[in-house]
Formats: sequence, C-alpha cells, structure tokens
Amino acid sequence: MKERITVLGATGSIGCQTLEVLALHPERYEVVALTAGHRWRELAEQCLRWRPRYAALADEQAAGELRNHLKAAGSDTEVLAGHQGVCAVAGLDDVDAVVAAIVGAAGVRPTLAAVGAGKKILLANKETLVVTGALFMEAVKRHGATLLPVDSEHNAIFQCLPRGGVDQGVRRVLLTASGGPFLGWSAEQLASVTPEQAVRHPNWDMGPKISVDSATLMNKGLEFIEACWLFDMPPERVDVVIHPQSVVHSMVEYLDGSVLAQMGTPDMRTPIACALAWPQRIASGAPSLDFAKLAELRFLPPDEKAFPCLALARQAMQAGGAATAVLNAANEVAVAAFLDGGLGFQHIGSVVANTLDALPGGCCDDVDEVMDLDGRARELARQQLVTLGR
Ligand code: NAD
Ligand code: MG
Repeated sequence: MKERITVLGATGSIGCQTLEVLALHPERYEVVALTAGHRWRELAEQCLRWRPRYAALADEQAAGELRNHLKAAGSDTEVLAGHQGVCAVAGLDDVDAVVAAIVGAAGVRPTLAAVGAGKKILLANKETLVVTGALFMEAVKRHGATLLPVDSEHNAIFQCLPRGGVDQGVRRVLLTASGGPFLGWSAEQLASVTPEQAVRHPNWDMGPKISVDSATLMNKGLEFIEACWLFDMPPERVDVVIHPQSVVHSMVEYLDGSVLAQMGTPDMRTPIACALAWPQRIASGAPSLDFAKLAELRFLPPDEKAFPCLALARQAMQAGGAATAVLNAANEVAVAAFLDGGLGFQHIGSVVANTLDALPGGCCDDVDEVMDLDGRARELARQQLVTLGR
C-alpha cells in the first residue's frame, strides 16, 4: 500500500521540494492533503496536479477563492478554511506521514495536531520545537509519534548517531553553518545591509524568513536549540562551526575521537528523501557530490560579536523554561520588520536581546500558556520597533 502524506506548507521552499521528491516515486507515495497560508493560486495549481483529497488554507478568504477555483476546474478536492482547517488535515486518520513545513510559530498547533494523532512527522518547522521544546518532545512520546528531522544539519546528525542514541559513546555534536551571505563582514558593514542582500544566500535557495535567519546566524541559534531537544543533548555538548561550502552538513564526535560527518551537495531534497523513506533509501533528484571539483573544505569559529543572535539563542536555551519561545517571537517580529524595510539588519539582535531582558520566559505548563507568552513577546518586540525602527 502507498504511504499517505500530508504536506503542511506545501507552497513553500520545503513544501515544493517535498513534492518534487514525491513526484519521483508515484508507486510509493500518495498525497492526501496540501496546506498553505494564503497563496491560493499556487495551492490551486498543486491541487490540480496532485488531486489530494483535502486542501486547507489558513486565510479564510483565500480558502473561498481556492474553493471556487477548484470547483470551476472540476476538481473534487475538499477545501478546508482557517487555522482549524489546517490543524484538521494535520491529524487525519487516513494519513501516515506529515511533512511539517510551515514557517514560524504558525506551525506550532498544526504540527502538534499531527503529533497528537501519533503520525510520522517529518520536521522542517524548527520554530515549533524552539517554541514548545519539552512540551513537544513529551507529546511525541505520549502519542507514540515518530520524529524525523528534515533540517539538513539535524538530518545529518540523525544519520551519524548510533542507533541506540547519544548515550552510546557520543561526546558532542557539531552543527555546521555556512555563515550566510555576510560571512567575514564587520558590525559596521552589516549596518547597511538591505533585505535583497540578506535573502540572497550563497549555497541554499530558501524562504525569506530562514534566509534572513541564516544571514544573522539566528538560524544556527534556532538549530542549536532544535538539536538539544531532538537528540536530548545538553547545550554544552552542542558546538557550532562555520563551514562556508555547506558540503559537510553536520557531524557527531564519539568518545574515542572518531568524527562522523554526513556530506552531500547542498540540496534539501536529500534530507527530505532520507526522512521520507527512512530506514530505506530512495532517489531524491539531488546531484552527486563531485569531489574532484571541491577545491577546499574550510572550517572556522563563528564571529559572535558581529553576529550576536547565536549567543542569544544559546543563552535562552540555558535559561530554560519558555525563554526560547520569547526569543523566537521577538525574532519573527524583527525579521518581518527588516524585510519590510522598517528595521536595520543590525537591530534584529537588539530587538531580540531587549525583549528577552524584558520578558525572561519562565515555565509554561501547556501550549496555550506558551502561545500566550509568544503573543506578549511579540507585543514587546513591536514596541522596540518604535525606538529602533526607521
Ligand atoms: P517558505 O516561506 O518558503 O514557506 C512557508 C510555507 O508555510 C508556505 O507554504 C506558506 O503558505 C505556509 N505558511 C506561512 N504562514 C502560514 C500560516 N500562518 N498558516 C499556515 N501556513 C502558513 O518557508 P521555507 O523556507 O519552506 O521554510 C519552512 C520551514 O522549514 C521553516 O521553519 C524553515 O526554518 C524550515 N527549513 C527550511 C529550509 C529551506 O531550505 N527552505 C531548510 C531547513 C529548514
Ligand atoms: Mg538547517
């Protein structure tokens, strides 16, 4: 029987690349549901191509447009609307695996809906883990869900870890970071960075939010937190190393000094295919790594002075509780303001630092409390924009 798949965030960079991989294996996979935020035209095209049983749009008005359009085109895809519609298709009975590829904290409830239904979760939406941390990992255990990392670094670590988990001789994990488009730039140079420059990543073609996060190194900060939760690693055993070529996707160091690395061309279809088929292997469409053309592999420490976001993320993780939810919320507000031209690049870290100072986080007992904290952090971050913004 074919494996039945839901793709949350189908119209995004990860969503589209997931569909590319699925298209290579029609005998193996069936798309049951596709969701997106508000871009109904792109979702309509995907629905006509994939003929899923359900489609859902978080934006209710856009869902209406999609429904009309699909009806006129003779499609029998059922369209669900609103946040609840997205959550509903995340937990459908007749779905085996859910690709969690919504961007930001907007993915928290849909991803948790999939966890609550005990699905196999292919996790790209790192913000969900950063925001809900312990609650998310507990829910995975309680509902017997399976978690497979799609983020390329975490997928690499997952492949390099011993089957029995980190207790079996692992000394530390090493997250590699490309360094983004501004590697080597000074704080003064960073002050005049434009959104167009920031979204132009040297190695990866990604959505706008994660591209800015890569440029500030907040992406590595979020991934640091993600690694601690996914692999049950204490923060002091997760290190970050800059590796501009993005060929080594991350590494695991063992007690005996062995370091295992996973390598490949920088192509998200590789970790997506790995997570889809695990423990089997399927073709992803990614080209082979051409070692003869690799002139060099460089590794260097991150410049935490010019890029303060990595240290802020580490501090939030060490502070514990829901400080990482505050970090994420403030970062989402700051990145959106930067992309809109309303905040300087170098002030993204300031907004996050000031919000963390004003709202330390504390302990949250459930997701409602976390999302309430997320809302308060966003409010405080927006107030920062009044003084720091332009
Ligand atoms: P993207 O901006 O390209 O796509 C985001 C998707 O989420 C779109 O389909 C959009 O419609 C949907 N969405 C946005 N807001 C929504 C809402 N409120 N409700 C429901 N759906 C909503 O983002 P992306 O680059 O594909 O990244 C998706 C996630 O994967 C992020 O968490 C990112 O950090 C992670 N990730 C991405 C890459 C990459 O190469 N793009 C690599 C590793 C991890
Ligand atoms: Mg990554």
